[in-house]
Amino acid sequence: MLESYDRTPAGAAGRLESAVEVLSKRKGYEFIEPAPASDEDIIRAHSSRHIERIKADSDSRKEGLLEKLARLAAGGAILTGELALSGTPAFGLIRPPGHHASRSSYWGFCYYSNMAIALLNLKARGLIQSAFVLDFDLHVGDGTINILGEKKAFTIHNPSGRGDESFLTDIQAALRKASEYDIIAASAGFDQYVDDWGGNISTSGFNRIGQIMHEFAEERCEGRCFGILEGGYNFEDLGKNALAFCEGMQGKKMS
Ligand SMILES: [Zn+2]
Repeated sequence: MLESYDRTPAGAAGRLESAVEVLSKRKGYEFIEPAPASDEDIIRAHSSRHIERIKADSDSRKEGLLEKLARLAAGGAILTGELALSGTPAFGLIRPPGHHASRSSYWGFCYYSNMAIALLNLKARGLIQSAFVLDFDLHVGDGTINILGEKKAFTIHNPSGRGDESFLTDIQAALRKASEYDIIAASAGFDQYVDDWGGNISTSGFNRIGQIMHEFAEERCEGRCFGILEGGYNFEDLGKNALAFCEGMQGKKMS
């Protein structure tokens, strides 16, 4: 069982077990291990004081495990974005999540902004110029907004709506209004799930969110789309929801 790294629900032992099991059994899915993000990568999104604070916080528990994992999660987000550039959808099964980590502060189970670090890495290397971020987590990704929101190259949308239909309509409307982007990326928060904190979106709803991203990517971003894990605390069903979303990103329907 994957070890716990902090006392938050995101860091609990066993949280990713069902996702590892479901995705590893599925044909056509390959697990790729990332390298940790470097200081150079993290510093594009965070202050050096922020890094020092997380290191100090981490050193006080489990010999720095938390900072190591936060850095690995950020590296995982970078790799996920890189893989998506070829037009094959990718999903970052990573933790700790990142969308509540701002430039110099953090809360909500997050330490480093995985999404911002990934997109700023791709942009710094000239691999993308712009990105649309669909943050469908139950909670607004204030950290991502804090870091990327001021920059013209990025649009961040947190959809709202009760139930699949209204939520999906909101996403479709936002994408219809969107201009041109090089890539579409999701902060995938499965805490919206009907049997999770949000009590809102069904497994087939997550599949349809993936399909909407697939269509947008095919039409507007040369097929480039990816998702990274944010929230999601129904440990048992996280696997099937992540699979439904991943199938959707490949344009596949799931009942
Ligand atoms: Zn959340």
